[in-house]
Amino acid sequence: MKQIIKNYIGGEFVNPTNDEWIDNLNPSNGEVYGKIPNSSVKDIQMAVDAAKKAFPIWSNSTLNKRSEILAKIARLIQEKQQELATAEAKDNGKPLALAKKIDIPRASSNFQFFANAITQFSSDSHESVGYDAFNFTVREPLGIVGCISPWNLPLYLFTWKIAPAIAAGNCVVAKPSEITPLSAFLLGEICNQAGLPKGVLNIVHGKGSSAGEAIVKHPEIKAISFTGGTITGSHIAKIASPMFKKLSLELGGKNPNIIFSDCNYEDMLITTVRSSFANQGQICLCGSRIFVEEGIYEKFKKDFIAEVGKLKVGNPFDESTDIGALVSKKHLEKVKSYIDASEDYGGKILYGGEKVNIEGCEKGYYLQPTVIEVKDNQCRLNQEEIFGPIVTLMPFKKEKEVIEMANGVKYGLSATLWTNNLNRTMRVSKCLEVGVLWVNTWLLRDLRTPFGGMKASGIGREGGFEALRFFTELKNICIKY
Ligand code: NDP
Repeated sequence: MKQIIKNYIGGEFVNPTNDEWIDNLNPSNGEVYGKIPNSSVKDIQMAVDAAKKAFPIWSNSTLNKRSEILAKIARLIQEKQQELATAEAKDNGKPLALAKKIDIPRASSNFQFFANAITQFSSDSHESVGYDAFNFTVREPLGIVGCISPWNLPLYLFTWKIAPAIAAGNCVVAKPSEITPLSAFLLGEICNQAGLPKGVLNIVHGKGSSAGEAIVKHPEIKAISFTGGTITGSHIAKIASPMFKKLSLELGGKNPNIIFSDCNYEDMLITTVRSSFANQGQICLCGSRIFVEEGIYEKFKKDFIAEVGKLKVGNPFDESTDIGALVSKKHLEKVKSYIDASEDYGGKILYGGEKVNIEGCEKGYYLQPTVIEVKDNQCRLNQEEIFGPIVTLMPFKKEKEVIEMANGVKYGLSATLWTNNLNRTMRVSKCLEVGVLWVNTWLLRDLRTPFGGMKASGIGREGGFEALRFFTELKNICIKY
């Protein structure tokens, strides 16, 4: 039987008003397994109406009440880990084991974190000494906010936006990627079970160009939190900025992984395999440009290729799979086109580069992890976000040279630095144009820390109190006594 996904509006599961639907595919076998609403402006309006109705009560509910409901959602996500992880593997092609270990626990933590954070979120006060006056600030929820998320970490990124938005007292109209809607659909049921009042969260499915854009354009939606591609982000900014909406844009990356010869070699090697190919390289934080200090370059090349060769490409539902399917045929073709043109871009394929045929999943979108040696950081392989299981390798001689190459892209999301020299750590860290830097580790996330990028990687920061600040409006009240 086909899985039918419906919109979640005002606590109910409803068909799209135009009765138009989009096929939903499983990338591990290329088969259509269900359908989702192709929502229109009318459905977004219904979601806004439901949110508007819920707002006065939700925004005035006590912090304890909000916190309890968020914590309950967190618990239910944990309890339904198997079902939710299966949904992610089925929609996205990622290994089920990865979804169980990373995606779903993190979605649960997002709710648990903001259940706690909202009870600690405080205001400032400023006594105007000598003027017999006192200022204090209040942070009020914005009203109705829009949350739009991508396909690579579906529930993980969807909840990263929704949890702080509702914790702060807003009502939400949210749209997951049309390619990975299933876990968001299941979240609706969880919210009902947790007792989230009807209309506080509304989830509308459909295409970015229609349903997504209708959220961005709606005059009553006060803020847009968007994670996705840089071109889409720029398009959204053009619509939302003249409307004076608050905007948080988490966009693409082309992150450097800088390896100095004085690092802990074994840690670096194992982590670099992960930071290159986790989630089929479809994480905005993957270190897709690897720069290695000249003295250890040849050794690294040999050892890295040997480790990459151990990764098993396979059916996401097979427990031993390291690398599952890419998210769609279109995306697979895009990634493969870079591989096929790699020689023209001055690259030399050191490992991989071929599609993989998996027995029983012949129509799935599988690709070998691919390592390409390049000579020039300006080549397209090093300048453009490919967002797949491809990394480039390049040696460097001097600290200054590698900093220039690391910064020599339009993006500025994250970087990884491997060294045991404290002075170098400080020097290089200060020079790198990125929002997030990991030294001697990768993707170690403390949810209190600000997260986001510079340059074409976006504007604004999410995470911790930054997210609660984003989802509230600041008002200063000055009282003379
Ligand atoms: P897209 O920009 O294509 O889409 C992201 C979301 O926006 C989807 O829900 C999409 O809907 C929707 N959308 C598309 N067009 C519009 C529009 N005109 N108005 C409103 N919404 C729209 O990105 P991908 O889904 O392809 O995700 C991959 C990208 O996300 C990569 O560039 C990656 O780097 C980036 N990313 C950034 C992260 C960060 O934190 N900086 C984290 C993760 C990913 P639909 O799917 O239906 O088209």
